[in-house]
Amino acid sequence: MDLVPAPTGKSSSLKSPVVEVEAVDMAPADTKETITTMENTAAVGNEAMQSEYETDSDDSGSDLEAELEVLHDEELRCGIPDACSLDEAIAFRNRLHEVGKAVFVQETIGADTITAKKLCTAFGILPPDFLDGAPDSAYHPLLAIAISREFSRRPKLPQYNSIEDAVKLLKESKKIIVITGAGISTSLGIPDFRSKDTGLYSKLEHLGLSDPQEVFDISVFREDPSIFFSIAKDILPTEKKYSPTHGFIRLLQDKGKLLTNYTQNIDNIEANAGVLPENIVQCHGSFATASCVKCEHKVMGDEIFGDIRKGLIPECSSCRKKLEDDSLKPQGMKRKRSTSATQKRRKADGEDSSDDDEDYELPTPGVMKPDITFFGEDLPDEFGRRLIHQDRDQVDLVIVIGTSLKVAPVAEVPGVLPRNVPQIYISRTPVSHTSFDIDLLGDCDVVVSELCRRAGWDFQHEMIPAGEKVEVSNVEGYESRHMFKVVGA
Ligand SMILES: [Zn+2]
Repeated sequence: MDLVPAPTGKSSSLKSPVVEVEAVDMAPADTKETITTMENTAAVGNEAMQSEYETDSDDSGSDLEAELEVLHDEELRCGIPDACSLDEAIAFRNRLHEVGKAVFVQETIGADTITAKKLCTAFGILPPDFLDGAPDSAYHPLLAIAISREFSRRPKLPQYNSIEDAVKLLKESKKIIVITGAGISTSLGIPDFRSKDTGLYSKLEHLGLSDPQEVFDISVFREDPSIFFSIAKDILPTEKKYSPTHGFIRLLQDKGKLLTNYTQNIDNIEANAGVLPENIVQCHGSFATASCVKCEHKVMGDEIFGDIRKGLIPECSSCRKKLEDDSLKPQGMKRKRSTSATQKRRKADGEDSSDDDEDYELPTPGVMKPDITFFGEDLPDEFGRRLIHQDRDQVDLVIVIGTSLKVAPVAEVPGVLPRNVPQIYISRTPVSHTSFDIDLLGDCDVVVSELCRRAGWDFQHEMIPAGEKVEVSNVEGYESRHMFKVVGA
């Protein structure tokens, strides 16, 4: 019952093109700018701070930040002289998220209720030795970094930490959002093709691309689709197999717990596992369908798989038919290309894009482009619509699997959802730019099978050995971080 159009502001911010967003915990590179920002805060209000923390920089932080010593919550818990206690620190963080940066600054250092030096410790920054004896204002730049970093972060919910908490959440939740990325398909041998260090991109060097990601750039595609199709056969879904993690998502569906699987993957493997289309949002599109770049005629993806596998550029059958019909009319275009000319063009790898072609609208059928989202294209509308108008009010658990969450739009999901909804992270390595309540680290296939085992769920998959034994150990210094390792079968 969701026919209300998305408010344009919200949805357009979610419809941003697929771009890498830098980790938001990156501090502004220019310390001077931070000082200025800090001094202006009371007068200018939130906007100055806002622009400061939104400033993205390619520098990996200032010298100042490099020298900062991080204070972990565990240390605050034990107590450090002149530092906030862990309880105080959590109260300050919660207050910041409650009132925003400007008000927070006003009612703390602005009202002289606490020194900037001590407040830094609430956000995990140990006052550096070189500032010893300096006036409190010398700590303002540090505090600005600390506050901005914390504010852009969803605060971790303190009540969820252990593996038992994770299992309990899994068992009790009824409307689970699962966000997935390339990491759930790698056990099937499918390369993380958007990442720059896959073998796939080395194949592209001979094409003379300055940046391998140009393969997925819509303007490059429009100019010369042969570049994309020269590698498309390597990323085309083949067998009907799926990983244990896909099977886990299917299991959540069978248990009536799956609200939506937002996947960044375009391999459409969720379908192989039996996840229903109505439970999936393919955030970057998929090979499931393809559309003509000229007339937008849409077909099922597998109709063009034959051409793709042969290394051909698939053409639109609707355009072709129209051209054939037109050629029968007396006013038909005189310079209609013959089929053999088209074939020649396919093989010429775009070398024949002479001026003539551009000046003269040649009647060729449009190229069929798989409906995966290229850089420079709008994301499927379904993403923002469903997230904002349907899922946001229902979700009771978020599980992020096999993605570093650095690519829009999924990177924005944790921040868009109500902050009291618990979030679990499953991946090989933890991320620092987003706070999850529980981090379950390791091979995601292993993690999900162990979760099912502990939940008492019957979960079988050919890639999970029958008596598999998994050891779960706590990562030192992080109450809510757990490492999963197979120790025997
Ligand atoms: Zn067409």
